[in-house]
Amino acid sequence: MSHITNGALAIDLPTPRVPAVRNRLKDTPVAGRKRVLLAAPRGYCAGVDRAVIAVEKALEHYGAPVYVRKQIVHNVHVVATLEEQGAIFVDEVDEVPEGSHVVFSAHGVSPAVVQGAADRQLQAIDATCPLVTKVHREAVRFGGQGRHIILIGHAGHEEVEGTMGHAADRTTLVQNPGEVDDLVVDDTENLVWLSQTTLSVDETMETVRRLRERFPSIQNPPSDDICYATQNRQVAIKKVARESDLVIVVGSANSSNSVRLVEVALEHGAKAAYRVDYTSEIRQEWLDGVETVGVTSGASVPEVLVQEVLDDLADAGYGDVAEVKTAEEDLMFSLPKELRKDKSGAVDARGLGGRTR
Ligand code: SF4
Repeated sequence: MSHITNGALAIDLPTPRVPAVRNRLKDTPVAGRKRVLLAAPRGYCAGVDRAVIAVEKALEHYGAPVYVRKQIVHNVHVVATLEEQGAIFVDEVDEVPEGSHVVFSAHGVSPAVVQGAADRQLQAIDATCPLVTKVHREAVRFGGQGRHIILIGHAGHEEVEGTMGHAADRTTLVQNPGEVDDLVVDDTENLVWLSQTTLSVDETMETVRRLRERFPSIQNPPSDDICYATQNRQVAIKKVARESDLVIVVGSANSSNSVRLVEVALEHGAKAAYRVDYTSEIRQEWLDGVETVGVTSGASVPEVLVQEVLDDLADAGYGDVAEVKTAEEDLMFSLPKELRKDKSGAVDARGLGGRTR
């Protein structure tokens, strides 16, 4: 078992997945009709899909072990599965033997980490989500123009550390609307705000509103930093939550977008909302008197884990499942350049990234 940290959380890996036990949840009577509203989009986004495939292909290309700095994506099941295949997850590149292959996670890294890997002659494969790289480029550009960046995000999250590292002396972090009043910045006429990709859209807009009150000339980013996947999953769960007595979000505790889905569900009408890694964590008492259960999953969650939740809910009488779809997603990202061809030199069918899990 390895022990790695991700942002503020320390996690022991692998987290055991309790084998499915059918009929664990009892079918107790409720006043009305039992049903499930299944949010769509949910689960894997293009950036997560690309990053997970990158580790799998690195193992195919180079053989085990392949080292991965931090969790490749914030999901304990994905990480445990890759660990079984030969990936070794580490906190920092100085734990990787010199000359080895190391994959940088979807959350991105600072230039200092890239340099640290180069100093150890590591063969680095960058699985940073292109939408995180976009924010890095914005930070470099605005920092290079001498602007001061207000980054909205969560302290200690790897993505925030990576983004701040691209304009370290020109960035100030603000985590929520309540922190805006306490911000101390010198050049108040030269500000621009950027954000972490996986925040609550509504809370971020409130933070921006407060920033505008304090710093009327602050500039917006050129385009949304909160990514399409985060936004789409929040829109879908808002619609589901309005009709749900209970919302179950499948996702890990350190998955920012999963935790936000619980918050958004509670803010938009769900009477209760819980996050689970595995269906085995669903408690019978959560279902007391519940007619409608909303179900969704974070952007780093394989669909198989959602299906297991649906199976358990069906055992409890919630076999009537209606999908609530608010958007179609078909975005795919090409793999890191080192992995686009198979060992024979042919372009791998997965080289363009994206697949259904
Ligand atoms: S949640 Fe958004 S930013 Fe993060 S990996 Fe997925 S697409 Fe990229």
